[in-house]
Amino acid sequence: MSPRKTRFAPSPTGLMHLGNARTALFSALLGDRFLLRIEDTDAERSRPEFVSELLDDLRWMGLTWDEGPGSAQPEVDYFQSRRGEIYRHYYERLEQDDLAYPCFCTASELEISRKVQLNAGQPPRYSGKCSRLTREEVERRRDQGLQPTLRFRVPRGVSVEFDDEVRGPQKFATDDIGDFIIRRADGSPAFFFCNAIDDALMSVGRVVRGEDHLSNTPRQLLLLRALALASPSYAHIALILGEDGAPLSKRNGSRSIKQLREEGYFPSALLNMLARVGHHYEQDDLLDFAALKAKFNIAHLGKSPSRFDIAHLKHWQELAVRAADDSELLQWLREETRAILPANRTALFLDIVRSNCVFPDQAHEWARILFTEELLVGAEEAAVAQNAGTGFYLAALDAASEAGENFDLFMTGLKARTGAKGKQLFMPLRAALSGRLDGPELGKLYAALDPFLIHRRLAEFAGEVT
Ligand code: GLU
Repeated sequence: MSPRKTRFAPSPTGLMHLGNARTALFSALLGDRFLLRIEDTDAERSRPEFVSELLDDLRWMGLTWDEGPGSAQPEVDYFQSRRGEIYRHYYERLEQDDLAYPCFCTASELEISRKVQLNAGQPPRYSGKCSRLTREEVERRRDQGLQPTLRFRVPRGVSVEFDDEVRGPQKFATDDIGDFIIRRADGSPAFFFCNAIDDALMSVGRVVRGEDHLSNTPRQLLLLRALALASPSYAHIALILGEDGAPLSKRNGSRSIKQLREEGYFPSALLNMLARVGHHYEQDDLLDFAALKAKFNIAHLGKSPSRFDIAHLKHWQELAVRAADDSELLQWLREETRAILPANRTALFLDIVRSNCVFPDQAHEWARILFTEELLVGAEEAAVAQNAGTGFYLAALDAASEAGENFDLFMTGLKARTGAKGKQLFMPLRAALSGRLDGPELGKLYAALDPFLIHRRLAEFAGEVT
């Protein structure tokens, strides 16, 4: 058992969202060795395309696994759907030791029993009806073609205790846990059965997962004990809540990692945001994975749920864009943006992008303004430009042809010719040259624009026909 081997064990029944991405990240941050296991025993809901999306998302986030699909341990299968033989072996052991028994109760019988218990003010749990069946009674039912589930016989009158690494000491009375199903009637294993067995067989030392799994833990510990398998330590992390205070889901603001990737978020933005949901770092600058890991402290994990706020993600995205180097930024741009980027203006453009854009769509908008002839000037921007009067632009044309590409000279020339200064000088120029009232410094705009376009845009407001 490796004390610090952690794992991420997703069920591939949908796209990876912020909640499970955070569980994956925390697991990777809290382990010396990181294992990936695909829990695809639910044949109806698991899909191969979700597996490949999941692997892509994890790779994109930089959460690569030391062990898991595609890693160099050919003797271990990390897909639970292919580990049926292993689970069968453990079912047999439990049955042989009379620690598990077949249960023939139908769904409606179970429902009635549940209602009776609830009405009597008792917590609903399995009555134990089938635990008392004789061998003959079991055979008779099987002969009738009835398919039983398999239930684990929970020992009575003891308590299961463990020290959760986040939530502290935990104690559960086994009398509150009814005998539970470990194999369904169709032969498929219950999730927490193979989940616990695999953690033990794969030598996982520390299980990091959402607190919604806390109530599974006593059952899993009972199973592991019954099978004399080692149990890991558990760290149940508080959930992320959406804007409405309910657990984060698609309905209240969660997004799939795929969607974030397509919107142009940088993985470092996502990791920096997620690592701070319910966890506090002293540093508030953008940290790389190694630094996030080195400074991650399990003792700093809050017990109460935290809210997800898209503004936080955008904040980290802005820092990630500012920190990106030229080749990262170039790759981040949309294909069609790269296509219109003149080679001799790439560095200037990337500089503009780095300090003005947060998403590739915004970068594309600036590339369109700077490097294409189409300029959409809105009504407000046109009014600001026109307010300066045609004389201002005639003077600007004159100053520009004298100054060439030298922006400072251009500005000095324009000031001298018009007497305008400050906003009066900058805003009309900005509006005329870019069709926008905000954006990069004017000097950068001037440098990035082709002189031909500068001339044309100034001429338009000078009333000249070009
Ligand atoms: N397959 C489970 C899930 O996706 C894993 C739970 C666990 O981490 O133990 O919820």
